[in-house]
Amino acid sequence: MHHLKYLNKFFWKYKQILCLGIVFIIVANIFAIYPAEFVREALDYVLKNMKEPKTGNLSNKLLNYGLLIVGCAILKGIFLYFMRQTIIVMSRKIEFDIKNEIFNKYQELSISFYNENKIGDLMNRITEDVTSVRMYIGPTLMYAINIIVLFSLVITKMLAVSKTLTAFVLFPLPILAISIYFVSSKINRQSEQVQAQLSEITSISQETFSGIQIIKSFTNEDNSVKAFFNSCKEYTRKQIKLVKIEAVFIPLIITLIGLSTILTIYVGGLEVFAKRISAGNIAEFIIYVNMLAWPVASIGWVTSLIQRASASQERINEFLNIEPRIVNYNNDKTIINGDLSFKDISLTYRDTKIKALDKISFEVKEGSTLGIFGKTGSGKSTIANIICRILDLDSGNILFGKTPIKKLNLNNLRSSIGYIPQDGYLFSGTIKENIAFSKDLIDENQIILSAKKADILDEINQFPDGFNTIVGERGVQLSGGQRQRLAIARAFYKDPDIYIFDDCLSAVDANKEKEILKNLHNETKNKTTIIISHRISTFQNADKIIVLKEGILIDSGKHEELISREGFYKEIHLSQSKI
Ligand code: ADP
Ligand code: MG
Repeated sequence: MHHLKYLNKFFWKYKQILCLGIVFIIVANIFAIYPAEFVREALDYVLKNMKEPKTGNLSNKLLNYGLLIVGCAILKGIFLYFMRQTIIVMSRKIEFDIKNEIFNKYQELSISFYNENKIGDLMNRITEDVTSVRMYIGPTLMYAINIIVLFSLVITKMLAVSKTLTAFVLFPLPILAISIYFVSSKINRQSEQVQAQLSEITSISQETFSGIQIIKSFTNEDNSVKAFFNSCKEYTRKQIKLVKIEAVFIPLIITLIGLSTILTIYVGGLEVFAKRISAGNIAEFIIYVNMLAWPVASIGWVTSLIQRASASQERINEFLNIEPRIVNYNNDKTIINGDLSFKDISLTYRDTKIKALDKISFEVKEGSTLGIFGKTGSGKSTIANIICRILDLDSGNILFGKTPIKKLNLNNLRSSIGYIPQDGYLFSGTIKENIAFSKDLIDENQIILSAKKADILDEINQFPDGFNTIVGERGVQLSGGQRQRLAIARAFYKDPDIYIFDDCLSAVDANKEKEILKNLHNETKNKTTIIISHRISTFQNADKIIVLKEGILIDSGKHEELISREGFYKEIHLSQSKI
């Protein structure tokens, strides 16, 4: 239960609407309870009339009672409507708040969090878990308050009529509540298993859809279908087990309500003969018993919903309580300039224990271009990530001028870097939106210019919709090289102080590479630029190149220097120039 404490702040935020909702519940229940009295009065009146017939206004009197009962029902209905309009509306508002809070937290968390958690789990937190928490805030709370109000009102009324009868009638109800609690706990446990299985199905489908191209090219469809089939089969088995337990629910309630009703008639009958109550009281009591039965049954249901919400909130809290590993230590505006110096930087990935960088030191003069060369897995992208502080160093330091990287305002740092990743990820939307991604403002001329510099303008113009062509998941599928060039255009549009090109020309052909590098050279003449590549041809304009091998800096210097001496760089240069 204590996990749900987290939600109290939301109840406080919406306290007015909540209080109003509680008032509506009370009023609705008051109108619900009166008809029982009218039935008693009407019945007693009829019985009295049969014994000693008086005037002929019996039907008038009965009509009055009928109208009163209908009137109460209408008023009750109106207030039930208001009750839902307040409490359920509140729950939707809180749901909205929680979803946004979780999503904001997701955005804050470091990349390592995404490496450690499955996307499916992240999605479930924000969809299913929030839904079950909303059930607690809305319907559960509403029913819980309703039960309390109704019980207080009905039992007061019953006690006023007959204490003996009340005791007998209420006697089966605790049994009902307890047995329903047990049944619903069982239902709870089983539905958790069903949920877990559902998550697995979601994961399988998601992975299959993302990797559909590979699955098809490896003709692996049968295996995907089999995995999905087995997972669904397990889901159905668990779901059927759940249905079996749930099937006990209603018969149990009906039996126990029946028991209460029989007791009312039998004990009530004895009381009537003893002249302690009227025959109308029996009718009144039967109505009360039926009014109580559902709320009693829902105690078990409400308890199980609360337990489920608590489990969901626990999972949500787990994420909300994670401290982002990368923290902004400086909220003042900092200017990012100066030479970059890397001093003995080391980094080991926590999950794989791979030492990606081992005591590397080098410098990049302000406004110059540095090339980072190395084979796949040598630690190049890791360097790019630590410059953007996507990752933090284990030891060593990076200085921007004289300022250590951690003393810089993280937002200033990231917004002054134009990082172009290897895979050129595109968001679903238009080409225009993808290029203008870094800014809210769309400057058409600048977009065209950026596309031109990235050498993709001609291709964009060939699309029927030009810059408004939809790309990404549901749009035009671009080639690897086109995606990379769009990502480059995105960085040009950002016009940052520092450029980092992370092997982003790998899928671009040699002619285009030359063209882009030329534009890049013009564009970045006065800007610090880091070009990462496993292709030596990319470094034609680099002022200095560092050579990495398995996380260690093995050589550095100008291209001419590096090819003038025997070593890894020259070896690769020779083998690459042969092609
Ligand atoms: P490069 O960009 O030169 O290909 P990376 O910097 O991406 O190399 O990777 C360096 C090493 O760190 C590799 O051995 C790689 O397997 C490992 N590595 C990279 N990213 C991660 C990660 N997110 N988690 C764990 N290990 C990683
Ligand atoms: Mg890389």
